[in-house]
Amino acid sequence: MQALHISGLTKTYKGEVQALKGIDLTVEQGDFFALLGPNGAGKSTTIGVISALVNKSSGQVSVFGHDIDTELEAAKSCIGLVPQEFNFNQFETVLQIVVNQAGYYGVPRAIAKERAKKYLTQLDLWEKRNSPARTLSGGMKRRLMIARSLMHEPKLLILDEPTAGVDIEIRRSMWQFLEEINKQGVTIILTTHYLEEAEMLCRNIAIIDKGVIVENTTIKALLSKL
Ligand code: ADP
Ligand code: ADP
Repeated sequence: MQALHISGLTKTYKGEVQALKGIDLTVEQGDFFALLGPNGAGKSTTIGVISALVNKSSGQVSVFGHDIDTELEAAKSCIGLVPQEFNFNQFETVLQIVVNQAGYYGVPRAIAKERAKKYLTQLDLWEKRNSPARTLSGGMKRRLMIARSLMHEPKLLILDEPTAGVDIEIRRSMWQFLEEINKQGVTIILTTHYLEEAEMLCRNIAIIDKGVIVENTTIKALLSKL
């Protein structure tokens, strides 16, 4: 099963920035996949299109076989998204943020509470459950974004530069957590501009530059070429 299939994807923003110039990409179910590239390469745009936050100009995208043009709701329910910016309400508590998210996906409240306890504990946030999000450190906010993205138990987790600005110890514990949920069967795609991060975590990699995929291979094959 393909977790993600993209063909001929283009995106031109207003003002004529050609952010994506015809991207083809396939990610198999169970993979841990890196989309690597410098700032401005088109990583966030790609993720935005997959999760329907950005309208594509042309091309096809399907998520677990659901085309985003014809089966958007089914595609979206497969995806957990961790964007770069902290887009939760800073005045809500940690627990409110994750439980409300489950509510948007129709998860019954009792189940939502169980999941909240599970994920907040695993991400070392349970003790902070009654704190307003604005009082958390940057590293904690990142982990809160991850916990929130998992509340509807998506099959595909997409993270945009998940460890940007996070110190090394917290980064390692986030890596461990992501490896664990990948082992449990969640397909993971992350964007990064650190090859080291891709090397630590991922099996397959695509390198994007100026809106074009310039390499699409296994991490092993890539490293042996360097
Ligand atoms: P990355 O995530 O790899 O840093 P982006 O996808 O954010 O790259 O950006 C790709 C290109 O599209 C860049 O040239 C960027 O300036 C441009 N871009 C991104 N978002 C917008 C937008 N909302 N409007 C216009 N141009 C944009
Ligand atoms: P810590 O207290 O864990 O050291 P900081 O609060 O200093 O973390 O922030 C860590 C990173 O998160 C920094 O790169 C910072 O720019 C970023 N960051 C902090 N707050 C926000 C926010 N509200 N939105 C986006 N990025 C943020």
